[in-house]
Amino acid sequence: MSVHINVLSGLGDKGPAAVVVETQGKRLLLDAGGALHPGDPITWANDLDVDAVLISHDHIDHIGGVAQLPAELPLYCTPLVAKALPKNRQWRPLPERGTIEVEGITVTTGQAGHSLGGVWLHLAVAEGVFYSGDACFESRLFPFDTPPPAGIALLDASYGVYDQSQQGCIHAISEHLMQPLVFPVPATGRALEMALWLTEEAKAWGLTLAIDAVIRANLAALLALPDTLRRPGTEAAIASVLARPDDTNAALMLVSDRDDAPAQWPDHRLLHTGYLTPERCAQLAAGDVLWQRWNVHLRASHLMALADQLGASHVVPLFTHLTDQPLSEWRKRLGKRLCTTPHFSTDARSTTFSTLGSFACPQ
Ligand SMILES: [Zn+2]
Repeated sequence: MSVHINVLSGLGDKGPAAVVVETQGKRLLLDAGGALHPGDPITWANDLDVDAVLISHDHIDHIGGVAQLPAELPLYCTPLVAKALPKNRQWRPLPERGTIEVEGITVTTGQAGHSLGGVWLHLAVAEGVFYSGDACFESRLFPFDTPPPAGIALLDASYGVYDQSQQGCIHAISEHLMQPLVFPVPATGRALEMALWLTEEAKAWGLTLAIDAVIRANLAALLALPDTLRRPGTEAAIASVLARPDDTNAALMLVSDRDDAPAQWPDHRLLHTGYLTPERCAQLAAGDVLWQRWNVHLRASHLMALADQLGASHVVPLFTHLTDQPLSEWRKRLGKRLCTTPHFSTDARSTTFSTLGSFACPQ
């Protein structure tokens, strides 16, 4: 049984996610990413011919291209992720953890440790195809499920070869807390664990804190899930965040990111914790905002551990630059397993790489 992989987008930079897996005469699209930078065009969906699309989670670079897809194309996602679909878009449920047949292909899902309702995807074809979506081992709230073995591993390498622990990140953020801060965050992702941490810090240091309604609603949604879909022992901490009233004129504000800019918050500094658009990079360079990462993606040693655990012979680092230094770093780590071509095919016995579509890194 042969498997053809076609990474339409997301290879060579932090771009929208879109991967086609073709096998058994069927083509499945994994994720339908939209532009990370407002206004950028989406080109990967041009001339697309697939039988179904599976969405890993609800962040814009994984779901934002759904509007470009034919309305009748079967779309699979978890119920929580479906809330982010365009209005009236039909969808079919993916399990949060389990197995489903899609177009005759057995798809296994598991918790990806990254966001509310987010899953990784495993296709039981040839020696297995694993797609992490965005994934993290370090979430305090979202578990990461160990996937089945897979010969092909399409992995979240958003952080490149960065390898600082979450503990180190949190320590660095805590050094800023004695000034008025706004944290604009993705409301279904790190927002939830940052809400727990900030609530504890506010209590410990006597700081005022406000958490916006969308983040509170998502925490309530997480609490309403079966407890096997949360890290053990987190219920009380979530409940105490939900029970804590917001302070008025709070020094610390955790808000759903809506492209907040410094001018909107004259009494606070913005502290970003994730991906920065070029505009925000310029603000950081000018000293107008702060930045310190809060880990929500696989760091390098965790990516390696996952590749080893899968037993993958082909590892594709997605959502990261693959030029010069980064490329040689990945080569050092992954050796012959490193795969940086957007089109390739494998079967149970041998592997062939297409000579078409030689890879050029978009910058
Ligand atoms: Zn994400």
